[in-house]
Amino acid sequence: MEEKTIQIAGSITVDELATALGLSVTDLIGTLFKNGIVATINQRLDYETASIIIDELGIKKVKLERKNTSTKTSDYHRELSNKAVSRPPVVAVMGHVDHGKTTLLDTLLHKKTVDDEAGGITQHISAYQLKHEDRLITFLDTPGHEAFAAIRQHGAMLTDIVIIVVAADDGVKPQTIEAINFAKSANAKIIVAINKIDREGADIPRTMADLSNNGLQPEEWGGDIIMVPISAKMNQNLDKLLDMILLTADIEELKADVEIPAEGLVIESHMEVGKGSVVNLLVTGGELKTGEFIVAGSSYGKVRTMLDWQGKPKGKATPSTPVTITGFKELPNFGDRFIEVKDEKTARKMALLNAQAAADESASANVTSSDLLRMMNVADNSKVFNVIIKGDVLGSVTSVVDSLKMIDTHGEINLNIVSTGVGDINENDVYMAADENTIIYGFNVSVPINISKMAARDGVKIRTYQVIYELLDDAKSEMENLLDAEIVEEDKGELKVLGVFRTEKTSIIAGGEVLKGDAKPNYLVRVVRDKKYLGEAEVTSVQKEKMDVKELVAGETGGLALKTSKKIDLQINDRLKFFTRETKKRKL
Ligand code: GDP
Repeated sequence: MEEKTIQIAGSITVDELATALGLSVTDLIGTLFKNGIVATINQRLDYETASIIIDELGIKKVKLERKNTSTKTSDYHRELSNKAVSRPPVVAVMGHVDHGKTTLLDTLLHKKTVDDEAGGITQHISAYQLKHEDRLITFLDTPGHEAFAAIRQHGAMLTDIVIIVVAADDGVKPQTIEAINFAKSANAKIIVAINKIDREGADIPRTMADLSNNGLQPEEWGGDIIMVPISAKMNQNLDKLLDMILLTADIEELKADVEIPAEGLVIESHMEVGKGSVVNLLVTGGELKTGEFIVAGSSYGKVRTMLDWQGKPKGKATPSTPVTITGFKELPNFGDRFIEVKDEKTARKMALLNAQAAADESASANVTSSDLLRMMNVADNSKVFNVIIKGDVLGSVTSVVDSLKMIDTHGEINLNIVSTGVGDINENDVYMAADENTIIYGFNVSVPINISKMAARDGVKIRTYQVIYELLDDAKSEMENLLDAEIVEEDKGELKVLGVFRTEKTSIIAGGEVLKGDAKPNYLVRVVRDKKYLGEAEVTSVQKEKMDVKELVAGETGGLALKTSKKIDLQINDRLKFFTRETKKRKL
């Protein structure tokens, strides 16, 4: 196997070297520090320093080369060698809820999702591959925009092409716009699938106009976005969509080096009884094989078993291939970059370095962000959502924090991360939460019985999750609880007062004719005289011919008992305007 070459023209910045090695900047700064070099991200390292560091890290198959020519800027984080080979495109499907993402993936894969795996854990498949025209296409089942964005924050480029699904009978919706923005910021190519064209209300030109108003100009109209009308349900035009994916891949000339140590991204991880950690990886460079040692964030391991997305054993995974492996000692995190190293010792060392670097980072970042938030809280009246985040490994804590920050609260709620940490939820967390009226979120950690007792006693909320999206959903709904409720009033009817039988301090008995709508017990009432508002009351009972009834409708006359909070001097000819008032929880 050949070495991967990193060319250095004079010097290389810490940032550039970290990227070339597939390490995080903090890892690299950590290693430099251990070697007595205090460096910042933009600091330039000379050839010698860079080679010592690579040695120290034990990274194999990487060769430094002095380069005289000027470097050409590239869109991609890794410069490809001239030995790079074509790789399948990595495609994500996004769009508004119910516009047909799941149906599209299902039809493409000619499979049905199992909705009710009785009592079992529904296995979430995070990536698939299918063949079209004898070429592979990798599909990612996007795990929600927030989590996806967290991956991007970690500096990883995950998708080449984003398919935006828009229902032709519904047009562009908020999540469509979110998907467009996401795809653009992730620098992915966009293909639009105009779906549900079999439906009666489908209007393709209107949908295209809608899209073009939102920044996507159809090719047919002189723009640069391919739009394919499809019916995911009726399997119409899906071949055309796949053709367009391959065409886009060809234009982009998607390539990867295979003669470098394997590398890629963690796209899902969970624990399974009897297997330990089960981790889905997307290989982005090199070739991953069983028996090799890999590091991802602060976890490492030896690839014990490797399966393709259909669960069949796979000996070797090439770029753009999703695989499921076992062998990681701890769970790595969604979005972590993994890299192959030469032996267990190196793997352990790198994992430790990553852990230290992440700890330093979160320690220093925490102080500033929470201080800042506190200052902001003083400055405006917005609500504060206090959380403590605990995770099994540092990377998961970072992912949760990143994703929480990504929830858009329209400036109404400030997220205050009281503390973060690795490990099970402990006494200290509960103390802190009680003080600050805080929710403790645990990701892949447990709650010892004495701690949950303590929390119950102190009224502290602890929520633990194994799936990041579920955690985010819960946090979102907790934030929604903090929003002031919306008050919705609905007019119900009107009555003309024809007789007043009794007015007391807090009650009135009167009779009249319902002019419109109806009158029912429990309705609220505005008392109005010549357009002047006199006060509010509540209907306690409704009578017709001296019998209690459920309602009086327009045209009927009858009696009413009203409850008031202050005395209202009701008179003949006053109007009672009936209405209902509900408080509605607002959504984010
Ligand atoms: P998702 O929320 O975007 O994943 O949407 P789904 O795939 O769950 O689809 C939502 C609904 O639209 C389901 O009832 C589908 O059967 C239906 N649907 C999806 N694609 C089509 C289509 O091409 N034609 C019609 N008529 N219905 C569709």
